[in-house]
Amino acid sequence: MTSLVWVEHDNKSVKDATLSAVTAAAQLGDVVALVAGQGCDEAAQAAARIAGVTRVLLADDAAYGHGLAENIAPLVVGLMGDFDAFIASATTAGKNIAPRVAALLDVMQVSEILSIEGPRTFTRPIYAGNVIATVESRDARLVATVRTTAFAKAAATGGSAAVDSVTGHGDAGLSSFVGAEIAKSERPELTSAKIVVSGGRALKDAAGFEAIIMPLADKLGAGVGASRAAVDAGYVPNDYQVGQTGKIVAPEVYIAVGISGAIQHLAGMKDSKTIIAINKDEDAPIFQIADIGLVADLFEAVPELTAKL
Ligand code: FAD
Repeated sequence: MTSLVWVEHDNKSVKDATLSAVTAAAQLGDVVALVAGQGCDEAAQAAARIAGVTRVLLADDAAYGHGLAENIAPLVVGLMGDFDAFIASATTAGKNIAPRVAALLDVMQVSEILSIEGPRTFTRPIYAGNVIATVESRDARLVATVRTTAFAKAAATGGSAAVDSVTGHGDAGLSSFVGAEIAKSERPELTSAKIVVSGGRALKDAAGFEAIIMPLADKLGAGVGASRAAVDAGYVPNDYQVGQTGKIVAPEVYIAVGISGAIQHLAGMKDSKTIIAINKDEDAPIFQIADIGLVADLFEAVPELTAKL
């Protein structure tokens, strides 16, 4: 089986999520990477160095410059004659492109695969991760997204694949790029951070979140996450949300501060290696999955902890 793996990049480097997608695709067979963008030659060279990638297809066109899924999906479909599978990481961008590819190919998408049990048999989460389903695809072409926390990252160096240019349909005329507001942070990116500190509704407001969570995260060099309640209340922007409808993380250490542990939140962090919970309610469900629990008022315990670090 030969897979076309969609490469997520910033024109210069390849995102870690793609390295996990490459590992998954390599378990199916040969891996060809697709780098689509504008002025993204450096990213194509980086993709060519990923261990396990046998070839890189580079589609450099203004139409792909801002990663508009409406333009990239037809590009992928035009290339799929040579491939058995299209694999993307289950990131926000991957989840925007892959279903369009599946629809245009008239096949079912297998979403968020956790493991590969056979050439066409996969496990994937359902019911917010409370049930793991084993599914088999009988479609002529496989379209799948990969849960990045379930697959180790392929080595970013060691490969030496050839880079070939390809052209697609260009602008599909369905959407146009207006602007982007990109949050800049000195802190590690949430989905790749080794330590994550997350805050919940209990922080009371944006100022509480800033005063309690951020200093602890900075002391630990951690990424910052939040529950949906904290995001909905405007303490932090949406892209901080961890959970079923947010980001999926599996850091070495996850510190949940004032988070009750609703199943939708657990769906996004329960695979973390060590879970530490700070909550004043000893019956909070988060303590059922926590490795270390502290029953305390966060407004006292967290500043004390931060000061001692
Ligand atoms: P709460 O449940 O209100 O918990 C606050 C906790 O803080 C309590 O346990 C309390 O004991 C503790 N606390 C209060 N004061 C203090 C203090 N001073 N010191 C210490 N502890 C204190 N949620 C997500 O997080 N992510 C998702 O992706 C997500 N997706 C959802 C999708 C759907 C379809 C639905 C229906 C819900 C979803 N939710 C999601 C919402 C989820 O059900 C919960 O409502 C949410 O996670 C609760 O957030 P919380 O734990 O911050 O708040």
